[in-house]
Amino acid sequence: MRAKDNVLTIRKTIPSILSLFVKKRYHIEFFYVDEIYDAKKSQPMKRWVLLLPGAGCSWAKKSGGCSMCGFNCRLSQINRGKRFSSTKLLKIFKLGKILIEGKKPSNLTIYNGGSFLNDGEIPRDVQEKICKEVSESPYLDSLFVESRPEFVSEEKIKSLNFLLGAKSLKVGMGLECVTDYYRDYYVHKGFSRYRFREAVNILKQNNVTVLVYVFLKPIHLGERESISEAIRTVEYAFSIGADEVALESAFIQEGTVMKELYSQGEFEPPWLWSIIEVIKQVHHLGPVYIGGFEDEPPPIDVPHNCPKCSSRIRKIFQEYNRTLNVSLLKRRYCECLPIWEKKLFSEESV
Ligand SMILES: [Zn+2]
Repeated sequence: MRAKDNVLTIRKTIPSILSLFVKKRYHIEFFYVDEIYDAKKSQPMKRWVLLLPGAGCSWAKKSGGCSMCGFNCRLSQINRGKRFSSTKLLKIFKLGKILIEGKKPSNLTIYNGGSFLNDGEIPRDVQEKICKEVSESPYLDSLFVESRPEFVSEEKIKSLNFLLGAKSLKVGMGLECVTDYYRDYYVHKGFSRYRFREAVNILKQNNVTVLVYVFLKPIHLGERESISEAIRTVEYAFSIGADEVALESAFIQEGTVMKELYSQGEFEPPWLWSIIEVIKQVHHLGPVYIGGFEDEPPPIDVPHNCPKCSSRIRKIFQEYNRTLNVSLLKRRYCECLPIWEKKLFSEESV
């Protein structure tokens, strides 16, 4: 979902502060402005995406993290697990703010490679100051952050909401799989469905928009079963009150269990046809976005079809995310389509 043209690269323009967490020749995009569909207003909106180097995902540190997630590796590359002071984090925020000023985005999206709502990853005073900044901004009208459910508390949400004033808050949480066994053992997510639902309830009771991440193709699942599981998970997410869903598809990053299986020929990212199949079957339930395939560290392999149609379909996904117009995803024939169909048909049931 990233817009390359609005990306600033560190070496060119940013002096001292970013060199604090980026090695000299490390090329990183720390913010960009792009357009995505605003499901609430039913129109595209400009969003400012800020990558804030928090102390890193506490779950990844404690447990090794989720089987597909490169947060651990990303941490060691970018800030070596160091915790940045509040002052430095706020400087990064302010620098980004100055540089996007002319674009007047209506949404601020923060990715911190973990849970923004965890005081141990993003200090509480930084969370609060950012909310205050959004509330005072003449153009920003909403803030999006990500969190694991255990950091969603009534007290925290009420206080951030208070600071945001008239501006709205959206929180993204990864449920990934509705089936407990898959979520526990294949994704290694480390929380119960009950805990997740409780967090959704707290958010909904406080008028926070809830985005749920659903994962397409955990390790050990075949193409067909992963499609069914993703469909069931999207249905469940909307049934417990999700306002929006993002379908995140498996891609391969260094330092993950998924990468080990991939190297042994035991795992492949999903086909793009599978992504289309899921969206086709769930789009009537509510807004469902297609997650991007770019991340830090850069993926080794991403979802694909054949070389003839893959890049065309990925471009269509970008346009789909900007408009949520599902007719864009109508299948156009490619010679790899029957190969995909045959694969689904030939897989054994789980
Ligand atoms: Zn093809």
